[in-house]
Amino acid sequence: PTMTTIIDGNEVADQIQSEVSTCVDTLRDDGVTPGLATVLMSDDGASETYVSMKQRTCEELGIESFHHEIDPDEPAEVLFDRIDELNEDPAVHGILVQMPVPDHVEKRAVLERIDPVKDVDGFHPENVGKLVAGNARYKPCTPHGVQKMLAAYDIETEGRDAVVVGRSDIVGKPMANLFIQRDDGGNATTTVCHSRTDDLAAKTREADILVAAAGVPEMIDGEMVGEGATVVDVGINRVDADNEKGYELVGDVDFESAKEKASAITPVPGGVGPLTIAMLMYNTVKGASLQSGVPVDL
Ligand code: NDP
Repeated sequence: PTMTTIIDGNEVADQIQSEVSTCVDTLRDDGVTPGLATVLMSDDGASETYVSMKQRTCEELGIESFHHEIDPDEPAEVLFDRIDELNEDPAVHGILVQMPVPDHVEKRAVLERIDPVKDVDGFHPENVGKLVAGNARYKPCTPHGVQKMLAAYDIETEGRDAVVVGRSDIVGKPMANLFIQRDDGGNATTTVCHSRTDDLAAKTREADILVAAAGVPEMIDGEMVGEGATVVDVGINRVDADNEKGYELVGDVDFESAKEKASAITPVPGGVGPLTIAMLMYNTVKGASLQSGVPVDL
């Protein structure tokens, strides 16, 4: 294509956050301050960064944030007891346990411990079920953000071929589920690829909308992208670099070569990442509305 649109995730996120902020005002006028609890049980640097970004965005929007840190050496019961307290706390409308949790804590048990009404990540099996049934309570933040981003750029999904690379419970699967819904941002014919997919490039080249969520640095290059496709790069990978931090962030897409083929493409950073946080704020405010009965326009 002569002109490739570089999708500005920060701009779309800002727009969503301003809508969310209006809803926060509506709730506060009715005496309800939305509250998000974050729980970190890890020493992982990336996880710490994600949690602090989430807290900072809460503050910017007038959402109360409650941060809990649990020593990763503590037994699982300590985390479960904390989740129970947060489930009971009326000031907390959303609970986010930052993944990964330590190996001795069963991830599935953590997700199931959270009150589904407060599960703003949308990972509790009840919420996964509602999503698949076409009756979502909380759409998972990253794929929902991708939908919002496509909508903001008037990139139609209906009747088009979407290819998702990755089948994780947090990105790939819910992304595919949203794409096949009989709904705005859905109605796409969707292919889900993963590490056992035969001839991946043949599949990705057929995509009108290609979503890369494999966690493999720059694995999707221009050869794997069809002419005029929209390329959404969900990947956030730390690779060694000769700089102060000792690493840099790269996506799952080789941006330079993919840009030559794509009609629109997201950069890393500044693409999907900011949308994920914006949609977490969106879900928290939706949760506050659901739990208080004060309607908001989301
Ligand atoms: P997971 O590791 O849980 O899942 C990766 C998926 O990609 C798996 O289904 C795996 O297949 C598949 N895969 C791995 N290698 C290949 C390959 N060579 N070819 C085809 N498929 C492959 O990762 P997540 O879904 O949690 O995250 C994916 C990426 O997105 C990561 O870089 C992560 O950091 C990033 N991320 C970004 C977010 C954002 O806000 N932008 C939010 C969440 C994640 P299989 O199932 O067979 O193993």
